[in-house]
Amino acid sequence: MKGLQGKNALVTGATSGIGQAIAIKLAQCGCNIAINYRRTPESATDTEEMAMEKACKDIENCGMRSLLVKGDVSQETDIVKMVNSVVDNFGSLDILINNAGIQTECPSHELTTADFDQVIAVNLRGAFLCARETIKHFLSQSHSGVIINISSVHEIIPRPKYLSYSISKGGMENLTKTLALEYAHRGIRVNAVAPGATVTPINQAWIDDPEKKATVESHIPICRAGTTEEIAAAVAFLASDEAAYITGQTLFVDGGLSLYADFRENWSA
Ligand code: NAD
Repeated sequence: MKGLQGKNALVTGATSGIGQAIAIKLAQCGCNIAINYRRTPESATDTEEMAMEKACKDIENCGMRSLLVKGDVSQETDIVKMVNSVVDNFGSLDILINNAGIQTECPSHELTTADFDQVIAVNLRGAFLCARETIKHFLSQSHSGVIINISSVHEIIPRPKYLSYSISKGGMENLTKTLALEYAHRGIRVNAVAPGATVTPINQAWIDDPEKKATVESHIPICRAGTTEEIAAAVAFLASDEAAYITGQTLFVDGGLSLYADFRENWSA
């Protein structure tokens, strides 16, 4: 994809699911990839191996470099260290993908302060801090850059019993727009990709249960859950120069989930 060859990208939470697919896709497009993991480097080696393998299918990308970077995105000191480590190792950073995310299910009136704070700390404050450190780097080198936030359809659709998750993704919309407006004139583009129901470990509760899976898919206009590759393709597009004139937007990659599926048939008249 135009403009990705040789770029340096950092993907948070890249050891599984959507983050892993994004790291692999960007490597395939010729990017050097920094793979963020939270606890042990072993958890990131699968992503690294798959990214290398895909990249090397195209001989031009065979020189692609990878880096495993430890960091808990709820910890400010970890984030500062992580971004510095990517810049030191790669020489610069061009693309940040804020993907790391968690969710907890709990009736809102029983949600503890600690659980509320933890989801916000990872999903929203973590994305802000990673963006802040990355933008400092973009500005210090006076070079253009791209930030993509992995949001959710719950950026706009309320999700009962997942209050902190819905708030974190709703906040991400404004994080995306505000940073986009503030730094557009410095050549920095900030966008979001909002997946719908996607087959990843975060959805283990219904993926392996055919009945639950059928129920989930019955609410999706395209009649199936999305794949991580479909999310990664949208991310690669927004990171590339094909999207050079797009900033401050959320691209919904959700099989139509955000189109109010219950209105497919007229039930109100
Ligand atoms: P996942 O559980 O496979 O991936 C989440 C990743 O985040 C994991 O690699 C995990 O290790 C990492 N992570 C969690 N806490 C972290 C922390 N404190 N520091 C660093 N890394 C941390 O789930 P996924 O579905 O691939 O989710 C990826 C993103 O996509 C999340 O932001 C999620 O909200 C979003 N999303 C997913 C879906 C879906 O249906 N799967 C839908 C909408 C949005």
